[in-house]
Amino acid sequence: MTILVVEDEVKITRFIKKGLEMEHYTVDVAYDGKEGLEKAEINSYDLIILDIMLPKLDGIEVCKKLRENKVETPIIMLTARDTVDDRVRGLDAGADDYLVKPFAFGELVARIRALLRREKTIKTTKLQVGDLTLDPATHEVFRGGKEIQLSSKEYRLLDYMMRRPGLVCTRTMIGEHIWGYNFTDDSNVIDVYISYLRRKVDSGFKSRLIHTVRDVGYKIQDKSQKINSIKNGTDKQ
Ligand code: CA
Repeated sequence: MTILVVEDEVKITRFIKKGLEMEHYTVDVAYDGKEGLEKAEINSYDLIILDIMLPKLDGIEVCKKLRENKVETPIIMLTARDTVDDRVRGLDAGADDYLVKPFAFGELVARIRALLRREKTIKTTKLQVGDLTLDPATHEVFRGGKEIQLSSKEYRLLDYMMRRPGLVCTRTMIGEHIWGYNFTDDSNVIDVYISYLRRKVDSGFKSRLIHTVRDVGYKIQDKSQKINSIKNGTDKQ
C-alpha cells in the first residue's frame, strides 16, 4: 500500500511519514500542490493525504483537478481549522474524508484503514466494456462468454484502460503505469502490447473495442453501446 502525503510543513510530513512507515505503508511525499498533483497523476497511489494550505496550488484545487482528470484515489484532506466551510469545500472538491489539525495519529490511521477497506470493495467490482468483462477479484477476462488468457502485463494494461472507458490513455500514462515511473517512450513496447491485446480481445469479433487515438495513445470503448460497470455482490454491503 503506497500513500502520498502532500504537505509543506516538514515537521508534520516527517511525523506522518514515520508513523505510517511503522504501520507498514510505503510513503511518498510532495511539498507543494503542484508537485502533489503531478505525482498523483503519474503514480497510482492507494491513498492521498492532502493538506489544504499548500504553496503553488492549494489542496482544494489539487483535489478538483485530480477528480476532473478521473484520478479516483481516495483522498483525506487535512484542514487547519475546524470550520464547516473548509470541510464542505474539501468534500465538494471530491475528497473522501477530512481531518482537523492537530490530530491524533491513531485517528489518521483509523481513517486510512476505513477508506482502504471501502476502496477494496470498489476494486473487486467487475469492469465491463461492451461484451468484454474483467473481474479484478479473480483476474478472469471474458469476451462474449469466451475466456481470454492474458499475460500479467497484458492484464494490467487492459485493467488500466477498462477503468477509463472512453477516455484517452496516452503512451506516457500507460508506460508509467505498467512499466514504472521513469518510463521513456523510446521503444514501441506499448504498441506491441496493444497489438497483443487486440489479437486476444478484438480479433474475431464484430466490433472493435480498442481504438487508436492518433499521435496520442489508445482508448477502450464500445462505440455501439453505453458503457457500464457491473457491480458484484461485494459492493452491496
Ligand atoms: Ca500546509
